[in-house]
Amino acid sequence: MIATKNVQSFIGGKFRDSRARKVDPIPNPATGETIASLPHSTREEINEAVAAAKQAFPAWSETPVPERAQVMFRFKALFDKHIDELSAIVTQENGKTLDESKGEVKRAIEVIDFACGAPTLMMGQNLDQVAKGIDEELTRFPVGVVAGITPFNFPNMVPMWMIPVAIVTGNTFVMKPSQLTPLSAMRIAELLEAAGLPEGVFNVVHGANDAVNQLLTHPDISAISFVGSATVAAYIYATAAANGKRVQALGGAKNHILVMDDADLELSAPHVISSAFGNAGQRCLAGSVAVGVGKIGDALVRELAKDAAKLKVGPGTDPKTTLGPVIRGERKTKLIEYIDGAQAEGAQLVSDGREVDQKEGFFLGPTIFDRVTPNMKIWKDELFGPVLSVVRAADIDEALKVLNASTYGNMASIFTGSGKYAREFKRRAQAGMLGVNIGVAAPMAFLPFTGWKNSFFGDLHATGQDSIRFYTRHKVVTTRWL
Ligand code: NAD
Repeated sequence: MIATKNVQSFIGGKFRDSRARKVDPIPNPATGETIASLPHSTREEINEAVAAAKQAFPAWSETPVPERAQVMFRFKALFDKHIDELSAIVTQENGKTLDESKGEVKRAIEVIDFACGAPTLMMGQNLDQVAKGIDEELTRFPVGVVAGITPFNFPNMVPMWMIPVAIVTGNTFVMKPSQLTPLSAMRIAELLEAAGLPEGVFNVVHGANDAVNQLLTHPDISAISFVGSATVAAYIYATAAANGKRVQALGGAKNHILVMDDADLELSAPHVISSAFGNAGQRCLAGSVAVGVGKIGDALVRELAKDAAKLKVGPGTDPKTTLGPVIRGERKTKLIEYIDGAQAEGAQLVSDGREVDQKEGFFLGPTIFDRVTPNMKIWKDELFGPVLSVVRAADIDEALKVLNASTYGNMASIFTGSGKYAREFKRRAQAGMLGVNIGVAAPMAFLPFTGWKNSFFGDLHATGQDSIRFYTRHKVVTTRWL
């Protein structure tokens, strides 16, 4: 599937072997066996990638917008054609099921679709006669070299929140994918090359903290797009801004799903389960806290436990699997520590995923805790695994109080048959992406990914009109003909 076992970098239109000394094994999370080795790019290699992007910028930014959009049309066609193979790479390096991987790649394609509309999306504004004989116009220009730093959980979709929009608006790009899942980025590079993207416009380097720090402080990088955990996002935001860069930094999450006592449980519970356990809970839109409101608590917990028991833990390549592995053994160990800790803090274990009948890989079964309270660590922290907490609340006011006390504000959802509850929720929930009877309220690519609080640091979000504005800067020209 991948031509080489040693992951290459992509610099100035060429796939290159790294001169790196630091090399990490990349395991398949379902088996633990090494599928590739990842050299961490050297400082010189990263400088070469930025230099290639800088060199490509003048010609690419001058390329007519409709021509840049044509590259995206061809890229989109290639993504469609290779969807099964792209999904298989995601499953191999990330562990999620093939269905989940395909869902991810389809979401990635949506952003390429969006980017194809660049000639319309990049249009400016104008007003004749702002004063006698004077006109004004606003036009958009790319910002320069953009660096993209991405997490492991969506190795195809998250890079695609950045790459198509940044490139089609005339920027050049240096990508630093997660060191845990670097393979998808290389296939993306091959497809961009096949789509006719000029050399140097897109580059890929590898590594972890050192590579990121070099990009954050590099004088030739104008903007940073980051997606990852909240602590790192806050650091990226502060450091990149202090180095004079434009920055959007999407962070972690702790998403609450309110289940009101008028909700139809048979219809609602499967959505809560798939929100909590889809992608093994490793999703920034995972509903990791279910709030049973009013009298529904006991019935909700019973229904959730019943549905969780139906999940089939196994490798993502098995079509019967509905819950794949977590990304690494260390993450599994950390999740088990959280589960042990929650029991010690008095949460009631309803479904225990610690014992699974998988001999290899990093598997954890669906785990549900009842009677979780906001003073518990399991409520406060983002666990990022297949663990669901149930909180009990007397009424919608108490439920919203719990939700709004979270330091995160990515997504929240309500299951109800009541328009009044839904309206209260929409107005008062302090999260940027809301769902009404939706388990995973993920905006389509033509709208922004609007996290709040510690789930987002910056001003302009990924995708939608926000992304066009993030990757462009304005000029306003005032004209008088004498
Ligand atoms: P992570 O923060 O560990 O890593 C993300 C990126 O940051 C990687 O490329 C990594 O190399 C780099 N990095 C990590 N630590 C760093 C440091 N100290 N200094 C500099 N760079 C560093 O995140 P992850 O575990 O790969 O991904 C999971 C996290 O991403 C979760 O918190 C999840 O909620 C979040 N996420 C958020 C969104 C969103 O839209 N808000 C989407 C996907 C994932």
